[in-house]
Amino acid sequence: MHISAILAARRPTFSLEFFPPKTEPGWERLFRVMERFQRLNPDFVSVTYGAAGTTRNQTNRLVRRIAGETSLSPIPHLTCVCHDRDEIERILDDYLEIGISAVMALRGDPPVGGDRCDGAYRYAAELVEHIVGYCTRNSPNGESPFGVGVAGFPEGHPATPNRVVELDNLRRKVDAGADYICTQLFFDNRDFYDFRERCRIAGITVPIVAGVMPVTSRANFERLPSLALGARYPAAFMRAVGSCATDDDVRRCGVDWAIAQCSDLIANGVDGIHFYTLNQFGPIRDVWEAACAVTSSR
Ligand SMILES: Cc1cc2nc3c(=O)[nH]c(=O)nc-3n(C[C@H](O)[C@H](O)[C@H](O)COP(=O)(O)OP(=O)(O)OC[C@H]3O[C@@H](n4cnc5c(N)ncnc54)[C@H](O)[C@@H]3O)c2cc1C
Repeated sequence: MHISAILAARRPTFSLEFFPPKTEPGWERLFRVMERFQRLNPDFVSVTYGAAGTTRNQTNRLVRRIAGETSLSPIPHLTCVCHDRDEIERILDDYLEIGISAVMALRGDPPVGGDRCDGAYRYAAELVEHIVGYCTRNSPNGESPFGVGVAGFPEGHPATPNRVVELDNLRRKVDAGADYICTQLFFDNRDFYDFRERCRIAGITVPIVAGVMPVTSRANFERLPSLALGARYPAAFMRAVGSCATDDDVRRCGVDWAIAQCSDLIANGVDGIHFYTLNQFGPIRDVWEAACAVTSSR
């Protein structure tokens, strides 16, 4: 089913994000819990991609395994830094061949330091335009079979000079043909609501799916800001985590915070919630079940 139809059929949608494990034991661990993730019945799942194609084969492997071994609908992420147009078309052909119906089109971040690379694209909007144009040209009925998602940053992308320019750049991606926006994870819903309202005022009308991630340990709490560009912890959450004595307490605090976020998002008519799983089942299940209970009680 086209992603636009999935997003139109249910509100909110619930979806999951996985990353390709780096080791064989990591793959075994992920596929031991995949069956349990599947039982949550997500509307779709997405699979991250190493910028500059560093985990390209592993992304492909995970997408193929999910498509072949489960009933889940995988949406591969695709970053365009360091890629030329032929490479992108080969990747799209490969996904079309195995029945993938959407991709998440991203710029990615150029490698830092010595490993400079050349590529055909400067920004994600150019990738969206290429995907839509290529898939439309090659489709028998002239309609692209591919849905396209793009990234949004409720707290702002750190490289963007200001939040006004940010919306202009986001609108370029939507004007190029993106079907939905999935946001960077955030911990303060007010940032999301303000971002959503600014998008609507700017004429961006596609669904906006909120990125949510429960903090699961103190190490995770400390590492997360370096993984999630632009994200901040609200003072109340910092205080709550700071007062935790053990990792179990931090996990409970992180899960409770994410549940409160989801309940509030659902009450405020969010289009969808995308859970950053870090491939861990337990905390996601706890938040997911609570969020589903809120939805069915409405
Ligand atoms: C939901 C989500 C999933 C992600 N998944 C991955 C992943 O799988 N792999 C990965 O490597 N990274 C991933 N990222 C990180 C993302 O690739 C980086 O944050 C990257 O820096 C921005 O990507 P983008 O697609 O938003 O780029 P763009 O939309 O191209 O924006 C990048 C920067 O350029 C600016 N810009 C855009 N257009 C113009 C223009 N015309 N003129 C001037 N400036 C412009 C923007 O304001 C921004 O500062 C993800 C991020 C999110 C939110």
